[in-house]
Amino acid sequence: MKLKICGMKYQENMAQVANLKPDYLGFIFYEKSARNFDTTIPKLPKSIKKTGVFVNEPIDSVIDKVNTHKLQAVQLHGKETPEYCKSLQILNIEIIKVFSIKNEFNFEILKPYETVCNYFLFDTKGKLPGGNGYTFDWNVLNNYPSTKPFFLSGGIGLEQVQDIKKFKQSKASKYCYALDVNSKFEIKPGLKDISLLKDFINKLSNNIMNYNVDDKGYYGEFGGAFIPEMLYPNVEELRQNYIKIMAEPDFKKEFDKLLKDYVGRPSPLYFAKRLSEKYNTKVYLKREDLNHTGAHKINNTIGQILMAKRLGKHRIIAETGAGQHGVATATVCALMGLECIVYMGEIDIARQAPNVARMKMLGAKVVPALSGSKTLKDATNEAIRDWINNPVNTHYIIGSAIGPHPYPDMVTRFQAVISEEIKWQLKEQEGRENPDYVVACIGGGSNAAGTYYHYLHEEDVKIIAVEAAGLGVDSGESAATSVLGKEGIIHGCKTLLMQSKDGQITEPYSISAGLDYPGVGPMHAHLCKTGRAEFMAVTDNDAMNAGLDLCKLEGIIPAIESSHALAIFEQKTFKPDDVVVVSLSGRGDKDLNNYIEYFKI
Ligand SMILES: *Cc1c(COP(=O)(O)O)cnc(C)c1O
Repeated sequence: MKLKICGMKYQENMAQVANLKPDYLGFIFYEKSARNFDTTIPKLPKSIKKTGVFVNEPIDSVIDKVNTHKLQAVQLHGKETPEYCKSLQILNIEIIKVFSIKNEFNFEILKPYETVCNYFLFDTKGKLPGGNGYTFDWNVLNNYPSTKPFFLSGGIGLEQVQDIKKFKQSKASKYCYALDVNSKFEIKPGLKDISLLKDFINKLSNNIMNYNVDDKGYYGEFGGAFIPEMLYPNVEELRQNYIKIMAEPDFKKEFDKLLKDYVGRPSPLYFAKRLSEKYNTKVYLKREDLNHTGAHKINNTIGQILMAKRLGKHRIIAETGAGQHGVATATVCALMGLECIVYMGEIDIARQAPNVARMKMLGAKVVPALSGSKTLKDATNEAIRDWINNPVNTHYIIGSAIGPHPYPDMVTRFQAVISEEIKWQLKEQEGRENPDYVVACIGGGSNAAGTYYHYLHEEDVKIIAVEAAGLGVDSGESAATSVLGKEGIIHGCKTLLMQSKDGQITEPYSISAGLDYPGVGPMHAHLCKTGRAEFMAVTDNDAMNAGLDLCKLEGIIPAIESSHALAIFEQKTFKPDDVVVVSLSGRGDKDLNNYIEYFKI
């Protein structure tokens, strides 16, 4: 599809926009418009058609403007008649006639214009001709009876990229010749935002967006393996083998059997009736909370311990913050009789005594990290140091969809069992595999990656990622990486990361230990950047209330992480027949003290 950028007003801005090589640039000759054009057009590349936009302008005046500004097209936005259009044909330029659509449209109106103009343009009906900032229902065009190519216009912005891609596959798009954009790309009326436009053009041209990792370990611009050279052999060994090993029938068989008999899969997909009634939509909960050890993390540690065994490793190391991943790792090491060393910040050891006790009972050695802030990132540094020193016999189990390639992809593939199950479970209950929304909370992003995986390229499934806002996104006490983060390197990958101006990682904050992480996995950074996922931020307060609500409505005490995902129903309204699947990543037993203190129970 061609692109027309309309409502140009400022000369320097015109030159910048022209660099983006749109097919048409529009200049509005209409005094009542905030974008009324009153200067001269600078020299533009020949490929760009200069288009004058008029509203009920006297014909002589149109001809005058066409000659003065050497326009190659006119766009008629008023009540211009077919005769009016016909009389402009002598100019031998393109004539675009605009029609405004609200919820319906009588296509009969087009007939007399068929022979007197080159294109139709469909805009949203509003108070003023054009620039209203709203899209109309493009389904109306399914009844388009003509073969004349048309421009699609009206409030098109970055948010419409997915809709446009969907529209391109519809019957209605067959004669859609160009997209016309204007107000959604402005800093102020007439001044276009170049980076927004660039983003839009990139996203549109990237017809088949890939949300999976590429062979270099990247999700778009995020990912990769930024590791010390001494770690290279370990990571490379894993990279060369992980796909091959996962595809072995024996591996699959053992993984599936353990997930079934040890973890207790499939986890139910539960239609939450009372919750659905409260929010007047259909909510399904994917019950990862019912897994052995109480959360989704076990899916990944089972997978990785089997991987370690296939690679001949008999010593396992891990890092843990709140202790959840440490417990999941200690569990599978006990299961397999492998040595387990868990690095944990000294401060976290003091804060998370019950999980430390669990790990010890399971036979793991918990080693305190004494450097830096004595929390998760310091524990990570210790684990990496250990791995460098023990490259031959040791496997490092990373607990989220983060780390150097291939970890984010490997973890995602192990967690993908979540969406694999949702597909057939939803088919059984709703008669269709695809929900309208999948929702998950994001710490590093492993339960989310697993919940989204089989839906990443299903464009009718919308993805919602929920981050912890802590005390509020702007409070300085938050973990909302998609808002506060910038591109940076953490844990061996390039991703979105909360950091100070000079690149120091900032301490995140959330009441939920599992979301208290300064980055998101590279896949999520990509989903955020491309607009494939909608990111929402939920405060401590809203999450706690949503958690308590689920207790009372459904008899389920959720992990505080999962409560964040549940809190979106207070922020966003869904349609009554929308099917919304929420990942209930874990159970709330571990958070009991938090709930007790918070609600003074
Ligand atoms: C660890 C944890 C999370 C966050 O980790 P992700 O890798 O983002 O899934 C979420 N929920 C629960 C219950 C957890 O234990």
